[in-house]
Amino acid sequence: MITLTGKSVFGGIAIGPLVFYKRNEITIKRNRIEDTEQEIRRFTDARDQAVSQLKALYEKALEDVGESNAMIFEIHQMMLEDLDYQESVVNIITTQGVNAEYAIGTTADNFAAMFAAMDDAYMQGRAADVKDVSERLLQILSDNGGEGMKLVEPAIIAADDLVPSETVQLDKDNVLSFITMFGSANSHTAILARTMNIPAVIGLGEALKPEYDGRLAVVDGLEGVVYIDPDDATLAKMRSKQAEELAKKALLEELKGKENVTKSGQKIHIYANIGNLGDVGSVLKNDAGGIGLFRSEFLYLESETFPTEEQQFSVYKTVAENMAGKRVIIRTLDIGADKQVGYFGLAQEENPALGYRAIRICLKQPEIFKTQLRALYRASAYGQIAIMFPMIISVEEVRRIKDIVREVKEELREEGFAFREDLELGIMIETPAAVMVSRDLAKEVDFFSVGTNDLTQYTLAIDRQNQKLDDFYDAHHPAVLGMIRMAAESAHAEGKWIGICGELAADLSLTEVFLDMKIDELSVAPSMVLPLRKKVRESL
Ligand code: PEP
Ligand code: MG
Repeated sequence: MITLTGKSVFGGIAIGPLVFYKRNEITIKRNRIEDTEQEIRRFTDARDQAVSQLKALYEKALEDVGESNAMIFEIHQMMLEDLDYQESVVNIITTQGVNAEYAIGTTADNFAAMFAAMDDAYMQGRAADVKDVSERLLQILSDNGGEGMKLVEPAIIAADDLVPSETVQLDKDNVLSFITMFGSANSHTAILARTMNIPAVIGLGEALKPEYDGRLAVVDGLEGVVYIDPDDATLAKMRSKQAEELAKKALLEELKGKENVTKSGQKIHIYANIGNLGDVGSVLKNDAGGIGLFRSEFLYLESETFPTEEQQFSVYKTVAENMAGKRVIIRTLDIGADKQVGYFGLAQEENPALGYRAIRICLKQPEIFKTQLRALYRASAYGQIAIMFPMIISVEEVRRIKDIVREVKEELREEGFAFREDLELGIMIETPAAVMVSRDLAKEVDFFSVGTNDLTQYTLAIDRQNQKLDDFYDAHHPAVLGMIRMAAESAHAEGKWIGICGELAADLSLTEVFLDMKIDELSVAPSMVLPLRKKVRESL
């Protein structure tokens, strides 16, 4: 048995034969051409054929994976119809007297290098797309048709990496899983795999060898592990894990699309918590009504240096688009305490949990805060983004935040960026101070979200990181529940809504208590959405 470890892009277990993706590799030759007019016609005919293929692919993707994922094929069409691209191909044919294939290959290389050199992460990503469309033209010119590989039986698809058109053209019913040597978790292929609900593992490296083609394999998308020629014990273990997954899926099917409503008709929103783009697939798969907490600090934790406005914009925009109009609450960075990032250069502190963290860093270093706010507001044009601020203790802080928000909006307006004016602004209630002044805070914001992890830590004076104190860490302590009730009363008295996004939201023994408090929203790990929906529907 061979065990390979990579990065999980989407969970689930797949068992089946491994098939290496076969491309019709094309070697581009440079041929001298006499009749350049005829060569230009070969190019334009291939382009027209590629455009109609892309139109058909768009329609297929629209049905299979939704509009935001299908968009990539519209972008590909636009690239082919781009005048600069066409002029470059035609110029190379005429000035050098060469074949269309060579002119396309050279144009693709030049354009890809140009995109790759740009500062903007989104534009850098277009380098792969320009190569993808050019490859399509070359396949058409070589009479391979550009239609991709055909699968005759269900299989695990292995590849160095897959471009979006290759992924979508595969017969979905026969694809058990995707595994790749390279590729990023944010690539279109990864997003498509998530949306198609197919287990996927990327970044297996050179250890994934073409000689494994045809061998039996198991993909554990939950752990990011692939077994080739699994032994009997592994196979049995994976089969039972697969059965568990199927049982969960059955629960999903039963509850999918159903309302979160109690027997007496009380409704509550159930949203999901995420740490990065990679989690959005399971939010959708588990039918959450929105994202109640996007811990944006993970963007900073996963980066070697401050993520740029463009990098952040691209992530927030993709999440908003994937959620297709459902509410996406993004919390501004909550760095400090247990989440340390070297490049912030934060000094050692006696009491980091009570130290320089979260909104305190943002208010002291507004340049970091503004970069994030600009990215968030710009992304707001692509979906229903709401912003919330962590670790609030006073009305004064909220007013300072709102001043900075006003400045950011003014700047974006002057620079001509589109954004939503009416974006909801909320705060986390995770300090006893915030609870005590919650009535005044509620006047300033659109919503509250209770961070019970920190609220418990600060209310009970118990370090949430210290395992030795686990016996004392009583999240059901009447003081904690009393705090949540008080915050809920304050919010409602001012006509605002309140959610809970700390771990307590998923505690099914408290669901009825929260319903009694008239909590409007509970945000939990994606895998808890359906068990919580079940609990709500069984409550009186
Ligand atoms: C909380 O404190 O409950 C919370 C949701 O935030 P975090 O766990 O990220 O501190
Ligand atoms: Mg917290």
